[in-house]
Amino acid sequence: ETLMDVNVESDRICVCVRKRPLNKKEMAKKDIDVVTIPGKGMLLFHEPKQKVDLTKYLENQVFHFDYSFDDDATNELVYRFSARPLVKTIFEGGMATCFAYGQTGSGKTHTMGGDFSGKNQNSSKGVYALAAQDVFTLLKHKRYSDLDLCTYVTFFEIYNGKVFDLLNKKAPLRVLEDEKQQVQVVGLKEVEVSSVDNVIKLIEKGSACRTSGQTFANAQSSRSHAVLQVILRRHKCLHGKFSLVDLAGNERVFSSLFRKYTYLVNECIRSLGKNNEHIPFRMSKLTQVLRDSFIGENSRTCMIAMISPGMSSCEYTLNTLRYAYRYG
Ligand code: ADP
Ligand code: MG
Repeated sequence: ETLMDVNVESDRICVCVRKRPLNKKEMAKKDIDVVTIPGKGMLLFHEPKQKVDLTKYLENQVFHFDYSFDDDATNELVYRFSARPLVKTIFEGGMATCFAYGQTGSGKTHTMGGDFSGKNQNSSKGVYALAAQDVFTLLKHKRYSDLDLCTYVTFFEIYNGKVFDLLNKKAPLRVLEDEKQQVQVVGLKEVEVSSVDNVIKLIEKGSACRTSGQTFANAQSSRSHAVLQVILRRHKCLHGKFSLVDLAGNERVFSSLFRKYTYLVNECIRSLGKNNEHIPFRMSKLTQVLRDSFIGENSRTCMIAMISPGMSSCEYTLNTLRYAYRYG
């Protein structure tokens, strides 16, 4: 299918699940794979019932999603069926949001940011770069080329209820909201881009800023949300916006703070397109900042739930599956 075949009116919420391969560490510990993906939208979770003889006491739990991706799926494949159908939305004047959800180490950043440390850049593009690539393709399409659209990128992190600019040395930013509930992140750097390479450079710059230079960098990046936005402007006015969110690790599901934001994201997604006044967007910095993406007439979202396949992660995996399943 091509980008133009997407029906913008179709499903507003798409929920996918992606299983990563067992890693070396897990294999060394003889961790076993407890997740099977028998088909396009189905996932079997083999719940260990007793700790004695694992192979004998596994019980299947069945989950259905719009798409389930096995551990051999590439970022391109995952992207094609999750975020890609949303690109057209922002050209039609709408808002799009893609969330990566899951425990720390399950593959959120791998999926969204890709990996640019390897030699083969092409095979390691993540959803950020792949979405940007499609944006530049559509800019040239005859339907949109006369609109005079300009493309901008922002990249920021939300940590402990505060916003930090990843394109500006992690500068802390204030969030203002006026009487009309228009939310503004004051001073957030919006960089104009004209090619995928421009965007990749910004992703690299921002990602390095996110995780380097601090002793607690890893702990911190697992507790922060990273948001990359691709913004289309027409004569300086907002035309459409694609927010790509690498969420904080969900292993803290039992903390009240995490429950609060989980609840909010859930409510926001459910209210897509409706003018739902009762949602306390302001309760969480993430939903406050993304507010305009949830209440627009023409808003769409997709969630990619990442799971680790190992028995050692099974509690977290089950949490992720149950959470994601509620949307499906
Ligand atoms: P998270 O952002 O959820 O904490 P990462 O994306 O950093 O997790 O992934 C943890 C590690 O697993 C990284 O080294 C990453 O390259 C690897 N990884 C994640 N998903 C995959 C995958 N689908 N295929 C291969 N390696 C993966
Ligand atoms: Mg990460």
